[in-house]
Amino acid sequence: MVQGVGFRPFVYRIAKSFDIRGWVLNSSGGAVIEAEGGEAAVEQFLRTLAGELPPLARIDEIEVTNLSPSYERDFVIRESTIRAGRFALVPPDVATCTDCLREITTVDDRRYGYPFTNCTNCGPRYTIIGDVPYDRSRTTMEPFRMCSRCQAEYEDPTNRRFHAEANACPQCGPSLALVSAEQLASGSLPRFEAAQGSHAILARVQNLLRDGEIVAIKGLGGFHLACDAANDTAVGLLRERKRRSGKAFAIMARNLATAERLCEISETDRSLLAAASRPVVLMRRRGTGLPGGISANLAPGTAMLGVMLPYTPLHHLLFEGSPGFDVLVMTSGNVSEEPIVSVNEEAGPRLRSLADHFLFHNRDIQTRVDDSVVQAFEGRQYPLRRSRGFAPEPIDLEMPLREILACGGELKNTLCLTKDRYAILSQHIGDLENLETMEFFRETLGHLQRFFRVSPVAAAHDLHPNYLSTRFALEESGLKTIGIQHHHAHIASCMADNGLRGRVIGVALDGTGYGLDGRIWGGEFLTCSFGGFERRGHLRYVPLAGGDSAIRQPWRSALAYLRAAFGPRATSLALPMFEEIPAHRIAVVETMLSRNVQTIETSSCGRLFDAVASILGLRHETTYEGQAAIELEMAAAQETGHYPFAFTGLDPFEIDMRPAIVAIVEDFQAQIPVGAISSRFHRTMSRVVVDACMRIRQSDDLNRVCLSGGTFQNLRLLGQSAEGLRQRGFEVFTHHRVPPNDGGLSLGQALIANEILLQ
Ligand code: ZN
Ligand code: ZN
Ligand code: FE
Repeated sequence: MVQGVGFRPFVYRIAKSFDIRGWVLNSSGGAVIEAEGGEAAVEQFLRTLAGELPPLARIDEIEVTNLSPSYERDFVIRESTIRAGRFALVPPDVATCTDCLREITTVDDRRYGYPFTNCTNCGPRYTIIGDVPYDRSRTTMEPFRMCSRCQAEYEDPTNRRFHAEANACPQCGPSLALVSAEQLASGSLPRFEAAQGSHAILARVQNLLRDGEIVAIKGLGGFHLACDAANDTAVGLLRERKRRSGKAFAIMARNLATAERLCEISETDRSLLAAASRPVVLMRRRGTGLPGGISANLAPGTAMLGVMLPYTPLHHLLFEGSPGFDVLVMTSGNVSEEPIVSVNEEAGPRLRSLADHFLFHNRDIQTRVDDSVVQAFEGRQYPLRRSRGFAPEPIDLEMPLREILACGGELKNTLCLTKDRYAILSQHIGDLENLETMEFFRETLGHLQRFFRVSPVAAAHDLHPNYLSTRFALEESGLKTIGIQHHHAHIASCMADNGLRGRVIGVALDGTGYGLDGRIWGGEFLTCSFGGFERRGHLRYVPLAGGDSAIRQPWRSALAYLRAAFGPRATSLALPMFEEIPAHRIAVVETMLSRNVQTIETSSCGRLFDAVASILGLRHETTYEGQAAIELEMAAAQETGHYPFAFTGLDPFEIDMRPAIVAIVEDFQAQIPVGAISSRFHRTMSRVVVDACMRIRQSDDLNRVCLSGGTFQNLRLLGQSAEGLRQRGFEVFTHHRVPPNDGGLSLGQALIANEILLQ
């Protein structure tokens, strides 16, 4: 990672300090240096090069060739070159550094209040780069001509902005424009005034936000919808307009101190919040939050808040002075499930009904990138969405790979390309349920293929025939295709995440994954390597009525489990669902189950969590994926004990959860608090994980366990499972670089396909 991170200036400086002559240049294959000098000096130069890199640079490999002297007289930075077929690592976007932050908040600095300030240590990268090598002419900064002062900084090797490709100032750089939704509706377009006008515009935006207005703000990777997080009416209105009834909104806190007042922040959380990638960090909220409160409407049904800190100068400036708010809602500017909006001309038509005002800027966004989401687990980063600040940083697998395109899953889609020893995972693309998102998929594939010069020989895809990603591989890619089982891909992604080779025990717990037998899998215990897998055990199948609608209606899963456990008398049990769901709807599903029409068998773990949530009366219908499971997790108290379950069958073994369902119903009817039941249920599931792994270990000499799949976003389950496994002497691997959910699938698919191509 040597482009856009101040690498050439760094090389220049150390070359000068050791009296080395020659040159350095960026090529599409990385940096090339010719160094000429005394033997000792050249050696010292090389050592310093590898040992004292600038903060954002990374060297995976240095190739050294001896040349005859050409008697250079100076050391220079040369023009970039394009070398066919090779690639350099394109850096992700980097949060504003402390030096730049100081400049924009210092009254007599020439960048005071300037929202597009950046330097070699920070600023936009992936979102503005159109091609490599990374030079201003190949970015969306191309239309802005540097003024003489910026140019002088750019050319001065001792300056922090020496070869800072996105360098800008109020004299020469991008500027803001504020337009109301009405003005946009009547056809007016943003007029970008001189950048010196930023102060006035930002002051107006602060006033609008303070007054409860919803402002669409163009940021780094797309538009955000922003409003004062303390304002109930504004938050409620945004929720209504976004047609987002239950899912939590991400918020941006003015600074770390504000975040600390909102949430219980661990040491790990603190470093995640402040990282150069500036992700949204999910943390447990403190009781009622801020003095003056933040809206209860922000994150209903969960004790967690997704918080991020300002990561562009524009964000910092929004909080400057006394704006009258400390926390802003910052949610992706999109309509429900569509991709984030990033183009000025599209913002009006697509977001007019959502925002009252639009804050535009005229630096184009080359690549749309949503905010990343992470959580702290066991002192490390546990990603839930790997996007801005991470993509497209390659994952170094330290082994040669064929060039492959892996198309990912359907929900939380990402795609993955492999080349040399790298897996290049795209940013979060989203749920491939509409044409817009599919278009985003194609666009992203195009960018990444160009940046990294990848010509895939095969396309890996999920086995589900109806995923749009599968259809893309089969019908559009024009490549040899390789179908890969969903849960095998989950475990392979966890192996790759941890640099594992060979065979492991894989525990894949999630909602929906197409099985080899055409049934819906999701509570899977595998032994596997990149080369293949055996299904050693799974949750016992239950028939689910109505296929996909069961995902949005946990009561259908509850009815399936109750029928399995109690038989026909299930519907006469005294449970909240039979009072709260209209009898005729229950009757329809009951009939479907008893006659076995339009039912599908599933071993899904997600549906089991849904069932328990509905049995306990927590949630019968959901408005977003995983809602019932999250609420069940949040309800859990600190209670010991667990419920019974049984192993049946041999190969694969089945885990029968019916005894647990019976016991849960009994506890509930005995008025045991829901928190205690949820706690015991979680303990039960972690016991299932541990016992199943022990069974597998009896016959296989395997001691490494990979935990993956969307259900492991549940940190209570993850923590207890990992702990239980370690107590039994297992070595446990969880995710650190890619999400356990379907956002990580493409990485696993790529590695499996690579292995299959070698066979
Ligand atoms: Zn900076
Ligand atoms: Zn300038
Ligand atoms: Fe999955």
